[in-house]
Amino acid sequence: MTQGQGKPQEGEAGLPETGARADRRLVLASAMAAALWPTLARAATTAQSVRMHDHNTHTRLVVEFTGALDFKIKRIADPYRLVIEVPGLAWSGPEQAEGAGLISRVQYGRQGTATSNFSVDLKGPVKVAHAFVLPPTGATPTRLVIDVEPATREVFLAGAEPVSSKQVAQSKTKIEPVRKKIVAIDPGHGGIDPGAIGFSGIYEKDITLAAARQLKQRLEGTGRYKAVLTRQDDSSLALRQRTEIARRAPADIFVSLHADSIRDPGVRGLSVYTLSEKASDAEAEALATKENQADTIIGMDLSNETVEVRNILVDLAGRESRNLATHLAGRLIGELQRDVKLLEHTHRFAGFAVLKSPDMPSLLIEMGYLSNRLDESALKSESYRGKLMAAVVRGLDQYFAPTQVARQTT
Ligand code: ZN
Repeated sequence: MTQGQGKPQEGEAGLPETGARADRRLVLASAMAAALWPTLARAATTAQSVRMHDHNTHTRLVVEFTGALDFKIKRIADPYRLVIEVPGLAWSGPEQAEGAGLISRVQYGRQGTATSNFSVDLKGPVKVAHAFVLPPTGATPTRLVIDVEPATREVFLAGAEPVSSKQVAQSKTKIEPVRKKIVAIDPGHGGIDPGAIGFSGIYEKDITLAAARQLKQRLEGTGRYKAVLTRQDDSSLALRQRTEIARRAPADIFVSLHADSIRDPGVRGLSVYTLSEKASDAEAEALATKENQADTIIGMDLSNETVEVRNILVDLAGRESRNLATHLAGRLIGELQRDVKLLEHTHRFAGFAVLKSPDMPSLLIEMGYLSNRLDESALKSESYRGKLMAAVVRGLDQYFAPTQVARQTT
């Protein structure tokens, strides 16, 4: 890439040459990224969203962009901040974002040098541990990822930190043809595990299987979906097997169906669970370090990446999946509330094992309480389950509608 960025430049605080050298390595890295999709390299770049997350040991900043991305990082002290220069940068959305962890704020155009930078204001000196660009995949746009760790003032000013991430994993999914959305439906329990036992003695495993079959039929009846059941009959299935079946499908969405039981027979209503943030890190890391899976689990070729970079990519995918699952839960609840009695605080967060796939937005529907007479008799009724599943289909339709349109027009 030209843009006059290959030359080391001095920061405004008169940074020593080592800082400029590290910056140049970042520029080279981003130039390599741009070379992967050269036709887009000169297009205008618009920042769409800014996210930050405190990981205790480091803070991660993720900025989503439309268009390709070339970037350069300058360090400025007093007060501490990173200025990220992006040629042709435009900004949509709020021009300030509140920080998290080591970052106090992200601001667009604070330096007043035209519109080609944004500032990452820091709570203290940091070391830039990683800085790289991820290419767009599916509905996910180009992302700039920057990890910062606490450091001394000397380290900040010297800027001699290693930039360990060379570059971008290439997407395997870019040339995927338009296809039906694949929904994995997981009827909870089965075989030796009956699940909850109902007011009148009915088993949860039978209700979930019946509901799953109805959902499959309704989804496929639209012509827009393919549905895959994790079990077709009354067989026992480990939790990990359920997500593996879905992953092999490969499912765009994973929906696990359950019907709860509780000591208080007065409690009734449906609830929707997505993965709680705290529950997911260890599982995602374990998956990331299992080499045979890490190559494929997030639709990217990770074979040339270090374990460290794999962990970052899997973590990002997990975060994205959680966001999507939360979005879907909102759509589902919006549809379900028209027809079904909901539990208070309908959307809940938990660490259920079946929700932990970093590469599949996953949710679990507790359709009601079998310990409640009214819920139980409703869930035993085929027509009630049909109404419930029709609402689930409408929720999925809403969830998928924008990306289906986007895919057909690009
Ligand atoms: Zn259950």
